Amino acid sequence: MPELPEVQAHAERLTVDYTGRVLRRFVPLTFTALKTALPAPEEAYGQPLQEVGRRGKYLLVAFEPVTFVVHLMQGGRLLVDVKQSAKPRGGQARFVFDGDGNADGSALLLTEQGTERKAGVWCMPTAGVLDSAPLDHLGPEADRLEPDELLALFRRKSMRVHGFLREQRCVAGLGRRLANEVCHRAKLSPFAMTGKLGPDDAQTVVAAIRDAVAEGLEYERSRDDMSSSKDRPGRVHGRAGEPCPVCGDTVRAVEYSGYTVNYCATCQTGGKILADNTTSKFLK
Ligand SMILES: [Zn+2]
Repeated sequence: MPELPEVQAHAERLTVDYTGRVLRRFVPLTFTALKTALPAPEEAYGQPLQEVGRRGKYLLVAFEPVTFVVHLMQGGRLLVDVKQSAKPRGGQARFVFDGDGNADGSALLLTEQGTERKAGVWCMPTAGVLDSAPLDHLGPEADRLEPDELLALFRRKSMRVHGFLREQRCVAGLGRRLANEVCHRAKLSPFAMTGKLGPDDAQTVVAAIRDAVAEGLEYERSRDDMSSSKDRPGRVHGRAGEPCPVCGDTVRAVEYSGYTVNYCATCQTGGKILADNTTSKFLK
């Protein structure tokens, strides 16, 4: 799933390429693509695109008076739609702009590969969009967190730090990959309970988040399209069996139904091997 760096760089590229383009129409291509009934997307017709922003893992395709809040979910993209075919493969919704023809990028297609079909669009009033669903439940932006703020969040409810980092209500923008990378950089067990972490830990985790996000952003901004997950930089995520780049121990994995926790025992758990808790597969 694209996380903060991928979505941010995607938003920046779209802003450069599409700001000022006038929306002609918005076309949902599946019954589930548009999550809202009012305000109507038509309110943005004839309006120039202000920018494509980001909040958490959401893209904010901003017009006046409405903003389209887009969630890419698993493998979603907002791609230049050259063909504008009636039933594009994986197509969820289409933004059509005024232009000279299809080839000049007159349309953007929200696509989602795979079978989940959860990518979606919320059409919301631009004024107050951050304080309305689906954005109102998000925690602070991961890369803007301060240590004392993070410590307060740690203490609100004790949970495994890996789960905490992935929980968008706690911290917005991180996912499975960056949770692994942040725990490794912070030399923290992914299973450490947040309620037991102190001010020094909060400081270390903030530094680890900034470092991992900056690395991802630098890589993602060097590209002209969004990376696929296997290309993204990292030290432990998806690298089970490879040597830890810090200490040389073997990177390990704990498998869950929806994700994998990768960690280095020497760097993070004092050598302790974390149990592959298979019952969790049935509890999820
Ligand atoms: Zn290591």
